[in-house]
Amino acid sequence: MRVVLVDPSRTMRLFVGRLLEAGGHEVLTFADAPEALACMRQDLEVSALITSGVLGGMSGLELCWETRVLAGRDRPIYVILMSSSIEKSRLGEALDSGADDFISKPPVADELYARLRAAERLGAMQRELVRLASVDALTGLHNRRVFFELAEDARARCGEHGALTAVMLDIDHFKRVNDLYGHDVGDQAIAAVAKVALIQGAVTGRLGGEEFAILLEGQRLIDGARLAEQLRARMAALRFDTPGGPMTLTCSFGVSERRPGDTIDDLLKRADVALYAAKTSGRNRVVTADAIASPLHAAQSNVIHAFAH
Ligand code: GH3
Ligand code: MG
Ligand code: MG
Repeated sequence: MRVVLVDPSRTMRLFVGRLLEAGGHEVLTFADAPEALACMRQDLEVSALITSGVLGGMSGLELCWETRVLAGRDRPIYVILMSSSIEKSRLGEALDSGADDFISKPPVADELYARLRAAERLGAMQRELVRLASVDALTGLHNRRVFFELAEDARARCGEHGALTAVMLDIDHFKRVNDLYGHDVGDQAIAAVAKVALIQGAVTGRLGGEEFAILLEGQRLIDGARLAEQLRARMAALRFDTPGGPMTLTCSFGVSERRPGDTIDDLLKRADVALYAAKTSGRNRVVTADAIASPLHAAQSNVIHAFAH
């Protein structure tokens, strides 16, 4: 484990640092809390903090709390407060300040190692829980919640004027796939479509059932429409050997570009309306949001026809 160790005494830092290294841990030592905090902020591999209760600049308890704030849901950092027996009466306060555990100072080697093993177990469990809560199990894509979180991040990065385009797609007549070939084949079809939809440099999520969304940062509507058309063709070319015989499928696409002031919901809503238009106008096609918004605009409405099949 990569451990940050904070203690004002050089002797103590050397002693505990050597113990940790002898136990196979990587140690970064600091005399002072702000520097330790800056290191943990920068080095995402740090997964444990061992701090003395009394420090210069910031108290050990304050450091525990700041580390807890820094750690958050996606990044486990196990916090151990190291204190002499005189301060043990403050155990409750330490735990309330965000410490996960408490160890005497100077620590006994076996106890220190055992506590770090517990830290590793907890950290691994937390990472696994975060993975389970973020990844769609069938396709390996981001699930709906994470897709929306990443989409918000992308929107923030783009600012008010940067280009951001959304592509939504849905497998056509998918109920028939399940009815004719069975649920397992349906699952295989969803996984295969997801694999095609996974674009390098884009955020792809499974929004539900057989519906996906792709977010293209820095790309305009026409780029999204071109990409959607390529995906449409590749998905239509997929071949499945099933117990019920060979099977193919098609998908419909809706594409929208963010307008100034749009939220992610607004952007996706317009892609969804375009997707619905693709469905109602015959499926297996790409429709862009502007083609729907101004149907009288000849140049734009051509976009629908350019990608219709
Ligand atoms: P449309 O062309 O209008 O999209 O028709 P559709 O039949 O695809 O309609 P709809 O989107 O309503 O149907 C989606 C179906 O997908 C319904 C549901 O039973 C099925 N489904 C949802 N999730 C899964 C899944 O994880 N696996 C399988 N095999 N089927 C799923
Ligand atoms: Mg469908
Ligand atoms: Mg659907």
